[in-house]
Amino acid sequence: MNKTKAYSAASATSPLTLDTIQRRDTTESDVAIEILYCGICHSDLHTVKDEWSSIMPTTYPCVPGHEIVGKVTKVGSAVKGFKEGDLVGVGCMVDSDQTCPHCEADVEQFCFSGATFTYNSPDKHGTAPVTFGGYSENIVVDEKFVLRVPENLELAEVAPLLCAGITTYSPIRRWGDIKGKKVGIVGLGGLGHMGVKFAKAFGAHVVVFSRSQSKKDDALRLGADEVINSTNAEEMQKHAGSFDFILDTVSAEHDINAYLHMLGLDGNLTLVGAPDEPLAVSAFALLFGRKSLSGSLIGGIKETQEMLDFCGEHNITSDVEIIPIQQVNEAYDRLAKSDVKYRFSIDIASLKDE
Ligand code: NAP
Ligand code: ZN
Repeated sequence: MNKTKAYSAASATSPLTLDTIQRRDTTESDVAIEILYCGICHSDLHTVKDEWSSIMPTTYPCVPGHEIVGKVTKVGSAVKGFKEGDLVGVGCMVDSDQTCPHCEADVEQFCFSGATFTYNSPDKHGTAPVTFGGYSENIVVDEKFVLRVPENLELAEVAPLLCAGITTYSPIRRWGDIKGKKVGIVGLGGLGHMGVKFAKAFGAHVVVFSRSQSKKDDALRLGADEVINSTNAEEMQKHAGSFDFILDTVSAEHDINAYLHMLGLDGNLTLVGAPDEPLAVSAFALLFGRKSLSGSLIGGIKETQEMLDFCGEHNITSDVEIIPIQQVNEAYDRLAKSDVKYRFSIDIASLKDE
């Protein structure tokens, strides 16, 4: 076992502070990774604050972080796909049973035995009660859950692709050919800004719904064709019934009927945002116009690799604010206020100085 520096939260009300955790020795199928950057996802904040306690309670100490990029330092004897020095990524999952129909269909996030998520999941290796994430110097991961990172992209900007990237890429691809379709992205945060980039890259007419008018110019720069102030009922009404597809990335309770009202015939609204409280849905908002409401959870490993390769080919990365890990608590306060453009990426080198 290897001792590793990390930042952890001791309880739902504690700040993240310096800690020491144990990583397992590399088994024959493992890849040991020195972490270079880790993005801060709103799911990290929900988990640290135990906001999902009714569905996925948090076990403390909690080391969050599932947008990891780093360099391979060691591989097990049976590892075929990676060697020391390779640039790699790790996203939201580090294991699954690999045998169930969902794993065989490359959607390991829905593994029948339950996927092992990168943090706050029971640790099969018994190194700790739960898995510890990427706010740490290094991590040891089974080869099947390690991704190749395009070498032409800035690593700090690649890290958020491992969650925010795949979570928006996957539902956009699954919708079908969105070329020329009117696509709405609700909420311009970490997920939302990646949704804009992918929807644009696949040729959609992209409309951002945001409460924050200060983000309007950025939304247009990121590729949106239009920006709607979602707090302005008149502006909203002008677009009623006109969307083919809407991706809702909002992290808190909000009125989704207002967005169902924006959909045209057979339109679909896919939720990726994960508010802790249930959302009220009006049956009539779905019945009239034969609309559908669905959800989407990250993406499988194969699709995550496809997304990373696509980003490498099309030069797509996240817009990041790079911070040292010592500023993580301020970053959480700002994230809670939707004050980030558009993802914090922690420079893990800062952890070595502690
Ligand atoms: P984020 O950066 O905080 O972005 C969320 C955006 O939602 C904000 O920037 C804000 O956009 C909008 N928003 C926030 N509070 C709102 C409110 N009360 N009413 C209306 N709009 C509000 O968060 P993120 O990292 O993108 O994550 C978004 C959500 O997705 C979180 O719940 C996260 O846990 C979840 N998530 C789900 C998956 C999945 O697999 N499904 C994966 C990762 C994350 P404006 O300022 O533009 O209004
Ligand atoms: Zn995430």
